Amino acid sequence: MAAPRKIALFCLPTIGEVIKLYNLRAEKQLSQNFLLDMRLTDKIVRQAGSLRDTHVCEVGPGPGGLTRSILSAGTADLLVVEKDNCFIPGLNLLSEAAPGKLRVVHGDILTYRMDRGFSKPNSTKTVPLDPPDLHIIGNLPFSVSTPLIIKWLENISNRTGPFVYGRTRLTLTFQKEVAERLTASTYLCAVTIPGRAFIPKPEVDVGVVHFTPLAQPQIKQPFKLVEKVVRNVFQFRSKHCHKGIEMLFPETERLELAEVMSPTELSIPDIRALADAYSRLCSENQGLLTYDFREELRLKHLNRRSGSSNTGNLWC
Ligand code: SAM
Repeated sequence: MAAPRKIALFCLPTIGEVIKLYNLRAEKQLSQNFLLDMRLTDKIVRQAGSLRDTHVCEVGPGPGGLTRSILSAGTADLLVVEKDNCFIPGLNLLSEAAPGKLRVVHGDILTYRMDRGFSKPNSTKTVPLDPPDLHIIGNLPFSVSTPLIIKWLENISNRTGPFVYGRTRLTLTFQKEVAERLTASTYLCAVTIPGRAFIPKPEVDVGVVHFTPLAQPQIKQPFKLVEKVVRNVFQFRSKHCHKGIEMLFPETERLELAEVMSPTELSIPDIRALADAYSRLCSENQGLLTYDFREELRLKHLNRRSGSSNTGNLWC
């Protein structure tokens, strides 16, 4: 049997040299900040756990610093999805140094069909609930990582996108405050990378968050309903919970809710109870699920301007 081919990363120009070679510039409008220090990129990669012989998708590889750390961790197959065309030649150079290991896709991770990127898991696997040998890793602009994680949370609940393979693990960077909120109910995020480590330096520090989807969701309601309840509860973050909860109901139906907790004091069981109760009410009241208080306000405002007193019944 032929000996496995070593990845000749040491023959490659450094990331700093790649940046010079291809005249790469971090576009401020695109919030591009690069990590050039391999000790830090190795540290992010370690948060994902052992990557030996696994499949990895890296989102937003840029000049490829994190990419090199993932390859050095012994991954069997790395697929990178990069939106900005100017990074593709440098990534192709890296791909040549790691034959058969690195696939470069020029595309947008918000629309990329990750369910087609890897072969589906082996059905003979004895414990199907074990996370698959597939990881997603990325240091993305914050403007992308937040909508992306919301999309992926919905994908987790529907077992679509990257989660057709099972409980695919994610290791992603977020603005430190967002990372701390995401991990608040478990533990504070384990790794913080100071802003000064990035080129150019962003105005905030960065937190690395590792997610392993649960085998069973803690709230057994459709994602859209849970997301609506949570979004409403948290929209008046500094006020008491009842303010946001009231907005789940049309104005004429709003109850005087006596609850005086603030949104951040709610536990997962509290949110579960709220989602279950709202689901019950939605099944009894056709149209409540799609009721949107902003739409009711908009129509009220329009009616006021046109002099009509009819606010309409928006949910029956
Ligand atoms: N991962 C590199 C690093 O750590 O040095 C680059 C980080 S930079 C903050 C973010 C990278 O994500 C850029 O290369 C940018 O072009 C890319 N990117 C931004 N939006 C993207 C999207 N929607 N899909 C794929 N890549 C994206």
